[in-house]
Amino acid sequence: MSLAPLLKIEGLSVTYHGAAQPSLRNVSLQLQERQRLAIIGESGSGKSTLARCIAGLLPHGAKTDGRIVWNGHPDKSHQTRFPTPGRDIAYVFQDPSASLNPVLTIGEQVAEAAIRHLRLTRKQARTHARDLLIEVQLPNPDALLSAYPHQISGGQRQRVAIAAAISAAPKILIADEATSALDTITQAAIARLLDRLVSANGMTLIFITHDIALASSLADEIAVFQSGRLVESGKAQDVLLNPASDDTKRLFSSHLDLTTPPLIRRVS
Ligand code: ADP
Ligand code: MG
Repeated sequence: MSLAPLLKIEGLSVTYHGAAQPSLRNVSLQLQERQRLAIIGESGSGKSTLARCIAGLLPHGAKTDGRIVWNGHPDKSHQTRFPTPGRDIAYVFQDPSASLNPVLTIGEQVAEAAIRHLRLTRKQARTHARDLLIEVQLPNPDALLSAYPHQISGGQRQRVAIAAAISAAPKILIADEATSALDTITQAAIARLLDRLVSANGMTLIFITHDIALASSLADEIAVFQSGRLVESGKAQDVLLNPASDDTKRLFSSHLDLTTPPLIRRVS
């Protein structure tokens, strides 16, 4: 029996308001439950456009064509609907300041999605937020609940943003260059955290990066984008060791020497 995909993207195109050219062209892709997909491609290739479209975060006026089929509820298997942002699908941005509000406490922000989507009371939400801060391995969770984002480091802010993203137990977590702005050590620590969180909570991961080594360490599938098109996708090992498309080969050769073997490794 083949499993129905969690998310099915069919012939998706996106054109931003006023743009002469589409930023995403006829992209088809499927995601299975618990899959880890890395989306790689040079800057401007459409990675974030695809992710924002899936997460319902495109700016006003963007035109879309094609279909997104969401089957997040196996108990109602023939139901078709879009994923609900924050509930079914959550987004972690490169810059945690983009997702965190400077005037709200960390506790309020980590609890927000759980209050809205899981209908927790304020009191339950506070306990839930504390548990989440522990889950993302932040020290002093009690003090953090009433602290503000500017009081903690960039790496800690990204952990808070991740805690806020997984607050309502989404099926899919999108990490869009979520480690790119961090120093190398913090980057590796956040990658390990994502690795652990998606395994522990049975989430599906869409990991967007221009770091091919990081992609290979976290993902089991890789999709390569170039100029708004999906040029290649498949098992991480196959794409990395035997890229079919010239665009992929070019992308890889500009990054690293593919004859170096320790490419496929787990971060944990
Ligand atoms: P990536 O994430 O791969 O770097 P993006 O999806 O952000 O690429 O961008 C793809 C293309 O869409 C680029 O040409 C970019 O300039 C354009 N684009 C992105 N966001 C907007 C926007 N809000 N309005 C108009 N054009 C945009
Ligand atoms: Mg981007």
